[in-house]
Amino acid sequence: MKTIDILVILFGLATGSFLNVCAARLPLKRSVLWGRSQCPVCGHQISWYDNIPLLSFVLLKGKCRYCKAKISLQYPLIEAFSALVTYALYLKFGLSITAVFYGIFIYFLIVIGLIDFKTKLILNRLLIPLFTAGVLLNFFGEIIPFKDALSGAFLGGGIMWMAAILGAKIFKKEAMGMGDVKLAFVAGFFLGWQHILLALYLGFVIALLFILAIWLFKKKEAPSLIPMGPFLALGFIVYLFYGKLLIQWYLSWLS
Ligand SMILES: [Zn+2]
Repeated sequence: MKTIDILVILFGLATGSFLNVCAARLPLKRSVLWGRSQCPVCGHQISWYDNIPLLSFVLLKGKCRYCKAKISLQYPLIEAFSALVTYALYLKFGLSITAVFYGIFIYFLIVIGLIDFKTKLILNRLLIPLFTAGVLLNFFGEIIPFKDALSGAFLGGGIMWMAAILGAKIFKKEAMGMGDVKLAFVAGFFLGWQHILLALYLGFVIALLFILAIWLFKKKEAPSLIPMGPFLALGFIVYLFYGKLLIQWYLSWLS
């Protein structure tokens, strides 16, 4: 492992830590840049040495230094996940504008997924900057042909919009929110029309597996309204790295 590999992983860890802050503060409309982090239970300010990604969680044994309240596993998990995908991006695309393009996509997806999981909301405050960044980076870097990106957006958004309308007719209530439709639109821009449908499909498969897992292991009824955002986000991220592999595997399994 070279120095650059370690730097990339450290950058991923630090970014993960920032993503946790974003997911906690954005729904409350608090600044993500100003103000120190506090323990959500006792309100005590968290010192820098208790805020080191992964390491502090281990040293504190997952408890607040002051009130001993448990720190959510979400924090180290997101930090580790962010480090993992950042390193994977680096291995796949090197230090390039393409890596930045998909990096921004993934980091936003993580925050969008976390917030949707907790609040059942997909914030325009996140979708609009993500879409803008995608358009700008693609404009300067030409990562995917603009036509492919734009038709991907309309295909992804369109299909989810139809699914939302159909779902509402069949279940007589809102089965999928407009947030999911907008998320699919933005993701379509990043993935292109060739990939958005399969990536969405993967998101639905992951959601289904999750519902089955709750059912089997918790032996209780799955919650009636499950936000789709986290599963779509995860589907997009997994597809980005393993899409080709999954398609090959699926086709060989069919034949
Ligand atoms: Zn505390």
